Amino acid sequence: MERTDSRPGTHPPRFQRIIGRVRSEHRGPTFVGIGGMHGNEPAGVHALERVARVLGENRDKFRGQFVGLTGNVGALHAGLRFQAKDLNRMWMDEQVDSLRKSGSGEIRYAEAQEQYEILTELESLMEHSNEKIFVLDLHTTSVKAAPFAVVTEDFLSRSFAASLPIPIIIGLTRHLDGTLMEYVSEVGHIPITVEGGQHDSAEAPKWLEAAVWLAMDSADMLSDDFSSRLSIASRTLEEVAVGPRELEVRYRHGIAEDDEFRMEPGFENFQTVKTNQLLARDRRGEIRSPSDGRILMPLYQNLGEEGFFIGRECDHRRHWIPFKK
Ligand SMILES: [Zn+2]
Repeated sequence: MERTDSRPGTHPPRFQRIIGRVRSEHRGPTFVGIGGMHGNEPAGVHALERVARVLGENRDKFRGQFVGLTGNVGALHAGLRFQAKDLNRMWMDEQVDSLRKSGSGEIRYAEAQEQYEILTELESLMEHSNEKIFVLDLHTTSVKAAPFAVVTEDFLSRSFAASLPIPIIIGLTRHLDGTLMEYVSEVGHIPITVEGGQHDSAEAPKWLEAAVWLAMDSADMLSDDFSSRLSIASRTLEEVAVGPRELEVRYRHGIAEDDEFRMEPGFENFQTVKTNQLLARDRRGEIRSPSDGRILMPLYQNLGEEGFFIGRECDHRRHWIPFKK
């Protein structure tokens, strides 16, 4: 498991729930960026810090408000993906309802406290906004991978992602329970997730920062003063994007803790696979691909509930309508 900062002689970074809260001089949408939902993924926090700093110096040049939130503060400090439970698998209706009702009084484990604080923050933003809120959840991957975005079934989520020049994954949320995205769309707001490369790579904060600027542009929050920043952001992602324009997830290989799941070496995100190809092994034996397609998020770390996904290429993006014309 990676430490967030293991360089000798450097102080480990300190993480706070609120990365930045920047209100512009002009009315407009609320944009929430969340980094570090997984504690071994600090890149999103660093990306949001940079964006908050630039916006703070340019309050007259954008509209609406920007809020940067840290996900799993405790796990980030520990350098762990999570402490007791995966914070990005806890957003089912019942869990959120019981947190709302019981407040923090009933909380018995680290991630429930984290979730309670994030929930309180999000619900207060939602309460004070009469427009839909844009929520961008920033992650990184255990394997070296080019950036990609994940959208929900909702066309608004697709519109939010429309200006990102990276592969867009649809249908993934159908296969996952309790993600933050699920909650955000359940309560009527607009989520997307961006995976910005490998956990501790030098590129990850840059790629994620580029995604934040482009998503804010999708939400029509940035004035023309940001145009050169936006073209740099676009180029940054275009240059490294690999894989299909759009991938629809058709299959999830779920794993249990005692499965002893081991991915076969050498699989890369979006790699083409064939029916029956050997992909992994567990204590029951070989695991082979159920179909032709592209492999998504092969698991090469110890913690996770999914070994891999298989998706099929499609291209409906031309039909997606950006918020910004
Ligand atoms: Zn993550």
